[in-house]
Amino acid sequence: MDRETLPANPFAAITRRKTLSLMGCGCAAAAATACTYNEELGRSQLVFVSSGQMAQLASSAWGDLKKQQKVTTDPKYVDRVRRVAPKIITASGGNPSEWEVQVFASKDLNAFALPGGKIGFYTGILDIMDNDAQIAAVMGHEVAHVNYNHSGERYSQQVGSSVAISAAQAAIGTGSRTGQLAMAALGVGAQVGVLLPFSRKHELEADKFGLRYMHRAGYDPNEAIRFWQKMSAQKSGSPPEFLSTHPADATRIAQLEREIALLK
Ligand SMILES: [Zn+2]
Repeated sequence: MDRETLPANPFAAITRRKTLSLMGCGCAAAAATACTYNEELGRSQLVFVSSGQMAQLASSAWGDLKKQQKVTTDPKYVDRVRRVAPKIITASGGNPSEWEVQVFASKDLNAFALPGGKIGFYTGILDIMDNDAQIAAVMGHEVAHVNYNHSGERYSQQVGSSVAISAAQAAIGTGSRTGQLAMAALGVGAQVGVLLPFSRKHELEADKFGLRYMHRAGYDPNEAIRFWQKMSAQKSGSPPEFLSTHPADATRIAQLEREIALLK
C-alpha cells in the first residue's frame, strides 16, 4: 500500500457522515443513540424514551381511562370493532393476542391506539361509521401512529431529553405537567385538558401506512376518504377532538387519493 491510499484519518469520513445525519434530523446536540434512521419512513427520528417506557406510560394511561370512562360491552359496538381489529393488527405485522380492544360509551367522536397494544374506540365515532372498512381506516391509521412510534417522537419534542427520561419513570395521572404531556402525546390528552395535534408529517405517514394495512386486510381503501370527508362535515360548533387533532384538509385527502392509486 503506498502512502497515497492511506487516509490521514480513517474516522474522518464516518464522523462527517454521522454529523450530517444528526443535523438532518435537527438533533446535532443530542446523543447519537436518541436519533435513529427509519428506512420505511425515509427519515430520522429523535426519541429520548424507549418503546418499553412509552408502553409503560401507555399502560398506566389505559388503566386510568378504563377507570374514568364507561367501557361498554354492547355487542352492537364491541362486535364490530373486535371483528376488524385482528385483521388490521395482523396486516400491520402484529399479533392480535397481544392487543386489547375496548369501546368506551361516549358521544365523543374519538378513537386511539396506544403503544404496548391498546385500541380504544368511542361509541360516538362508531355511530357515524357506515361500514367495517371505515372502522378499518381509522384503526389502521391509529395503529400506524403506534408502529412508527409517533407518540415517542411527539413526547420527546414536547418535554425535551432530560425531562422525558425522568418523567418516563414517573406514573401518569399525578396531574403533573409532564404527566399531562405524556397523555397528550399518547393521543388521550382530552381527558386531562391538553390537546396536542399530531404533526402534518405524522398524519401523512399514519394515513399512508394505515391505508396499506386496511388494503392488506381486504377492505376498500376508498372508504378512508369517505370517512374523512364525513368527519369534516361534522364541524358544527366546535370541532370534535379527533378532528382537531386529525385535520382532514384538502392536502390530506389528495395524498390519500395518490396513495390509493399506488396500492396493488
Ligand atoms: Zn393521526
